[in-house]
Amino acid sequence: MVDAVVVGAGPNGLAAAVTLARAGLSVEVVERNDTIGGGARTAQLTLPGFHHDVCSAVHPMALQSEFFRRFRMEDRIELRLPEVQYGHPLDRGRAGIAYRDLERTAEGLGIDGRAFRNLMEPLSGNADRVADFATDALLHVPRHPLTVLRFGLRALEQGSAAWNARFRDEVAPAMVSGVAAHSIQHMPSLSTAAAALSLGSYAHARGWPVPIGGSQAIVDALAADLVAHGGTIETGREVRSLADLTPAKAVLFDTSVPGMLHIAGKQIPTPKHGALRRFRFGNAAAKVDFALSDPVPWTNTELRKAGTVHIGGTRAEIAEAERAVAQGRHAERPYVLGSEPTVVDPGRAPRGKHVFWAYAHVPAGSDVDPTDAIVRQIERFAPGFRDTILQSSSRTAVQMGEYNPNYVGGDIAAGAASFWQLVKRPVLSSDPWRMGGGMYLCSEASAPGPGVHGMAGWHAARSALRHTFGLSEHVDLAPED
Ligand SMILES: Cc1cc2nc3c(=O)[nH]c(=O)nc-3n(C[C@H](O)[C@H](O)[C@H](O)COP(=O)(O)OP(=O)(O)OC[C@H]3O[C@@H](n4cnc5c(N)ncnc54)[C@H](O)[C@@H]3O)c2cc1C
Repeated sequence: MVDAVVVGAGPNGLAAAVTLARAGLSVEVVERNDTIGGGARTAQLTLPGFHHDVCSAVHPMALQSEFFRRFRMEDRIELRLPEVQYGHPLDRGRAGIAYRDLERTAEGLGIDGRAFRNLMEPLSGNADRVADFATDALLHVPRHPLTVLRFGLRALEQGSAAWNARFRDEVAPAMVSGVAAHSIQHMPSLSTAAAALSLGSYAHARGWPVPIGGSQAIVDALAADLVAHGGTIETGREVRSLADLTPAKAVLFDTSVPGMLHIAGKQIPTPKHGALRRFRFGNAAAKVDFALSDPVPWTNTELRKAGTVHIGGTRAEIAEAERAVAQGRHAERPYVLGSEPTVVDPGRAPRGKHVFWAYAHVPAGSDVDPTDAIVRQIERFAPGFRDTILQSSSRTAVQMGEYNPNYVGGDIAAGAASFWQLVKRPVLSSDPWRMGGGMYLCSEASAPGPGVHGMAGWHAARSALRHTFGLSEHVDLAPED
């Protein structure tokens, strides 16, 4: 008998396990893959010596989320900021460049500089408060009502037909849409606006860092802390039923909603079943990793300093591409999210060489290899890119789901990030992680949704401490100096 078992060693599963172990409980983590990390793994996917992030690559939340602020992730691993937090190329060499300094960013936006600054400043100046609100269950009394009001008013604007009202030129709205599109939803909508405002404001606060050595560094730091506090991790074992697990007072699932129901359905009290069965998956991502002989030859040379690049053209083009995907079609010119970590972490590739990470939005269940579409989109803004490719390795949406069963149909958010499904993720409750019967959902399928923030795991573990163990939820997560 142990106190708690966690099914799945993704960032949320490990965040939950660390919180419980630090509260003095015995904790076992069981992971189906041969290595830990879930959506935060790093591996040699192309040529020897080229280290690619298999899923996540850029980590604003590793600095910004309350869990990682308390865990002091930035003191445990090196999270390096590129000079350009994110960039957004347009035709004829134009580009939106997001520096950490909002004033410098606004200066580059000409006629729309002031409008962009007015949109972001009240949020980036209070980014920790924005993060505290955006990474909790949406059904709760906010700790910082003024920040929430400012956020809400801006979300109503950027999530509606009024979204262009403040802008005169193309660059600033394209930048906002490039960030909004992270949520793989039709736009404008409240959920895309929320992504644009939260992630966008973090770029001008703590920034969008890249972990030295790759995303694996984040989960390795969590695992080291867990083991130091007596927890254990078993890899290479898929959990199919509760009978596969050591008996425990609490079981926390870093799985999809159907994954949890398959393993523990009968133990979860029936009132929750209907809501859980209505939980919907969204559209998908299809990914390509490139080993490059040279850096990406962006026409706008400022983009060569960017950790992240949003590739899709103008606001109207991105909205059109996302509309196609929402209707179940492949976009002619898909939205592509790209990252060149070697801009700040040259050790990811042999001397002088580079790695580039990119995924395109595609309909759920797509089995189309995204390589051609992604290369065409990059070539549009970086002619000659094709000639720098030494090797590439791709995963279709279907293969994303095979790689990690949480990504059903290639939905990397483990459930559509639509507005209503962010409100009730996965059920309408101020404690949506608690399933009853000692069962908790701790993955990105629960609030607050996708991202390497550890918040779902932390919230679920605190709920377990309160309800299953009758312990205080206030657990010190800081490193012991
Ligand atoms: C291509 C891609 C790019 C992304 N880019 C970013 C980014 O740049 N920045 C960012 O912040 N986020 C990004 N994300 C999102 C981020 O990776 C996820 O939101 C995050 O990993 C979710 O963490 P999790 O712990 O909830 O689930 P996961 O990371 O999916 O981990 C779940 C773990 O549970 C295991 N598991 C599932 N079922 C079982 C079972 N039955 N038995 C045992 N083990 C099981 C899985 O193998 C997996 O290891 C990206 C995701 C993808 C796929």
